Amino acid sequence: MSTILFATSEARPLIKTGGLADVSGALPAALRAIGEDCRLLLPGYRGVLAALDEPREIWYFRDFYGFGEMRLHLGGIPGSGVPVYVLDAPALYLREGGPYQDVNGLDYPDNARRFALLSRMAAWMAGPDSAFDWRPDILHCNDWQTGLAPAYLALAPEWGGRRRAATLMTIHNLAYQGVFPASLVTALGLPAHSFRPEGVEFYGMLSFLKAGLYYADWISTVSPNYAKEIQKLATGVGMHGLLHARRERLTGILNGIDTHDWDPETDPHLPCRYSAQQPEGKADCKRFLQADLNLESNPDAPLFGVIARLAHQKGLDWVLQVAPGILDRGGQIVLLGTGEPELEAAWRELARKHPGRVSVTIGYDEGLSHRIEAAADFFLMPSRFEPCGLNQMYSLRYGTVPIVHATGGLKDTVEPGKTGFVFDTPSAHGLWLAIEAGLAVYADAKAWRRLMQAGMQRDFSWETSARAYQSLYIKLIGERTQAKRAAA
Ligand code: ADP
Repeated sequence: MSTILFATSEARPLIKTGGLADVSGALPAALRAIGEDCRLLLPGYRGVLAALDEPREIWYFRDFYGFGEMRLHLGGIPGSGVPVYVLDAPALYLREGGPYQDVNGLDYPDNARRFALLSRMAAWMAGPDSAFDWRPDILHCNDWQTGLAPAYLALAPEWGGRRRAATLMTIHNLAYQGVFPASLVTALGLPAHSFRPEGVEFYGMLSFLKAGLYYADWISTVSPNYAKEIQKLATGVGMHGLLHARRERLTGILNGIDTHDWDPETDPHLPCRYSAQQPEGKADCKRFLQADLNLESNPDAPLFGVIARLAHQKGLDWVLQVAPGILDRGGQIVLLGTGEPELEAAWRELARKHPGRVSVTIGYDEGLSHRIEAAADFFLMPSRFEPCGLNQMYSLRYGTVPIVHATGGLKDTVEPGKTGFVFDTPSAHGLWLAIEAGLAVYADAKAWRRLMQAGMQRDFSWETSARAYQSLYIKLIGERTQAKRAAA
C-alpha cells in the first residue's frame, strides 16, 4: 500500500465547477477501494468544512511561509469517507463567490496567492518538514492550481534531494494555465533563478501549470489521445515543446465515471428506471422530460441533448448553426448550461423562436442533467478540444447515442458507427453530416437498439483508471527509492 496526497482545487460533492471535481471525488475513492491510502488536500471554501464528516483541527500555523495564520482540518468526504485535509485560510478562501471567481464571474485578483498557498501546503506535506505522521509517497497534483507544488519541492534544496514524495502532475485541461505577472515569482516564495524557460517562465510570464509540467517527476493527462494532441503545435496551447520533450514521462489515463451516481437502473433523479436488458423506461423518461420542459409530447421526435459549460471550447456555436436542420427533420433540442453571456443569449433566443421544440435552461442543475441524459436519444458534444469529457460516457451508459468531434478523449471513448457518431472536420458542416448519419440509423428501430445497447454495455468504471494510476505510482515510488539510495 502506498500513501498518496491528492491535491486539488475542487472535489465532488464538496465543491464543483467542472470535470476536475468529478475526478477528485471519484479517483481517490477508487484508489482506496484497491488498497491505496489516498487522501485529498482541498481549500476551505465557504461551506466545505461544514459539509465534512467528523472534521477535526489537526494543526495551527501562526504564519505559514508568509501566507498568514491558518489551520488544517482532517475530515471525511460524505458518502465515500475519503479523508480530506482542508486548508482553512479564511482570508483567502472564505468568500461569497465560486472557487476561482467572485459572484460577478470575475477572477479573484489574488488567485496567484490563493493557489500558491494550496501548492505550498501540498509541497510541505510531501516534503521533509511536515509535522505529520502521515507522509505521502506520492504527491498527485491536478491542473494549474496545484502546479507550483512540484516546483516548491524540487527547488527547495533541502527538499529536492532525498526526502520527498514523488510528484505526478495531471493535466485535466491544458487551456487553463495559471498565468500571472513575473513580478510575483519571489513574492510567492520561488527563487528568482527559477524564472527561465527551464523553469516557471512562460512567454515572459509566470505559469503555474508550466511549473508543474517542468518540475514534476511525471506528467499525466486524462486520455491517451489528448496526451498525443498536446505535444503538437496546433493543440498544445504553447506547452507542446515542453510536453514533447518530456514525452517519455507523459502518460494518458482515461477518466472513469461514477457508475453508482450514473446508473439508469437506480438513478434517484429519474422518473423511471431502465437498463440495457429492459430499456422501456427510457421512453417514459423522454415523455416526462418533454412534459416538464414544455416540449411537444412526441415519442418519435429525435431528442438531442446538450449539457455543458457554455464556452467556445464546447463547439455549441456549431450546434446553433445546425439547429434549423435538426428542427426541419422533426427533432427537438434540450440544452442545460451556463457560461459565456453571448452564448447564453443566443441559446435563449433560439428557444424563444421555437417554443415546444427547443428548451434552454441556463443554470447548473444536477438533477436535470441526469434527466436529460436519460430522456435524450442523441447527445451532442462537438467540442473543439476535449481532454477527456464525461458527458459522452454518461450518455453511452444511459443509451443516449453521442455525436462527437474526433478530438481528445471523445475519440478514445466513442466508437464510430458502433456506439456513436464521430466527425473529423471541426465545423458546423462536419457536425451536420454526423447528425444526418445518426438520423438515418435512428429511423431503423432495430439498428438503433443495437447501437444503444452496445454503448450501454461499455465499461467506464473508475476501477480500470485507478489500476492504471496505481501502476504509475508504483513505478514512481521505485524511481524515488533508487534516487534516495544513489544520494545516500
Ligand atoms: P468540463 O470539465 O470541461 O466542464 P466535462 O464533460 O469533463 O467538461 O465535465 C463536465 C461535468 O459538469 C459533467 O459532469 C457535466 O454533467 C457537468 N455539467 C456541466 N454543466 C452542467 C450544468 N449546467 N448542470 C449540471 N451539470 C453540468
